Amino acid sequence: MDQQIVKLLKKIVGEKGVLTSPEDLAVYSYDGTFEECNPDIVVLPESTDQVSQVVKLAAKERIPIVTRGMASGLAAASVPFSGGIALVMTRMDKVVELDLENAIVHVEAGIVTADLQTHVEKYGLFYPPDPSSIRHSTIGGNIACNAGGPRCLKYGVTGDYVLGLTVVLADGSILKTGGKVIKDVVGYDLKSLFTGSEGTLGIITEALLKLIAKPQYARTVLVEFSSIEDASKTVNEILLAGIVPATLELMDQTAINCIEEAMHIGLPTDIAAFLLIESDGVELETTTQEIKSIAKICEKTGATKISLAKDESERANLWKARRSISPSLARLSPNKLGEDITVPRSAIPEAVKRLKAISQKYGLPIVIFGHAGDGNLHPNILFDKRDPEQMKTVELMVAEEFEVALALGGTLSGEHGVGTLKRPYMEKALGEVSVGIQKKIKQVLDPLNILNPGKVIPD
Ligand SMILES: Cc1cc2nc3c(=O)[nH]c(=O)nc-3n(C[C@H](O)[C@H](O)[C@H](O)COP(=O)(O)OP(=O)(O)OC[C@H]3O[C@@H](n4cnc5c(N)ncnc54)[C@H](O)[C@@H]3O)c2cc1C
Repeated sequence: MDQQIVKLLKKIVGEKGVLTSPEDLAVYSYDGTFEECNPDIVVLPESTDQVSQVVKLAAKERIPIVTRGMASGLAAASVPFSGGIALVMTRMDKVVELDLENAIVHVEAGIVTADLQTHVEKYGLFYPPDPSSIRHSTIGGNIACNAGGPRCLKYGVTGDYVLGLTVVLADGSILKTGGKVIKDVVGYDLKSLFTGSEGTLGIITEALLKLIAKPQYARTVLVEFSSIEDASKTVNEILLAGIVPATLELMDQTAINCIEEAMHIGLPTDIAAFLLIESDGVELETTTQEIKSIAKICEKTGATKISLAKDESERANLWKARRSISPSLARLSPNKLGEDITVPRSAIPEAVKRLKAISQKYGLPIVIFGHAGDGNLHPNILFDKRDPEQMKTVELMVAEEFEVALALGGTLSGEHGVGTLKRPYMEKALGEVSVGIQKKIKQVLDPLNILNPGKVIPD
């Protein structure tokens, strides 16, 4: 990078806010996928104003900017393939205001999601969206991907909690959209446009988030099945009975075995699948009653064993296990490609069957787990990227996974986003007209194409 530009960037964010050594560039080169590419420079701003000044400079010099939270993304969306500036938001991690009366929190975008949750819970409040990466992802990244998570079945996704945003636009101007009001229909809903835009339309620097009262009680059951179809059908039966538990998570045998090998917490390894189901609420009696009703349904739908977590430590262990699936898969193969197709709930058994058939056809394992209550499955292909043949096979397998989702009336991604990995399939999923509109939106908001170029929108 031109030394004059480095000097100007240091003037904006200070000496310590600019990193250029090869080691530092490598640290900011990858995300949660197997993709990597160094940026030319790393910039760590500490305020909305600094972000605005950096963007003004980048626009003048036509330098690409890839915004980055904690880089836990699973679509290669924060990998800086075009070089330029990696704009890392993690120093903007403050709670600006906690408005207890209105149950609204104002935060900077770089706050780690779990830290925000811990903070508001001290005051009896609750921020429900819970991507399994809560300890290593930021609110800005969650908003930019409209992240989901196990609890989103009952409580909704990140976007459902966004009341307002501060966004630095591609020319450096600062947009404030939304506010502390719950209802607001004045003009187009710009906060929803930036939610899920993966850093391609603007840089989110601050957010106003809705909170709710913290549920006081939770009851969790682990339900075992001898077939993944029985487990999938059970999901539908529970929801059709009018019960919406906080979570309804599905794991297949390979996922269970991987977790058990990694964590030794006593999970059964001889079963085909299990469901991790949690009910929560403000009263112990209703929460307990709900989990009992769920257990009764599971008995009728072929569960082979139903185990209730006896105390908070058993419950915490089960959730630790669930959050460890992704990392524990590394024991089976050096690389994985975790997709997150979504299908109508009734199509889950068929989707699982077809995904397993793809695995058999190509000879690489596909581990399946996911937020079954939302019809959101995470088929993870396990492979070794050092083997060029396997890389080619993975591409064919992914294309077939997407075919399965679309053929069953579903879509490419429920929560991870498009990044670069799903970009080639956008038109197939959305159609020419929708992609055309999205290209126009991108052109209007980022005419120089400097914000995360090459992501989401096909050329
Ligand atoms: C083990 C594991 C489990 C996961 N579980 C889930 C899950 O349950 N649910 C789920 O939805 N996802 C999950 N993910 C994916 C990932 O954690 C989410 O997509 C998360 O929202 C990314 O946040 P981040 O801060 O790491 O963003 P990054 O990965 O740094 O960035 C992701 C995208 O957001 C953009 N971005 C980041 N910050 C900003 C900002 N301030 N303004 C504008 N754009 C920005 C980036 O440019 C990029 O396009 C998981 C990932 C891992 C590794």
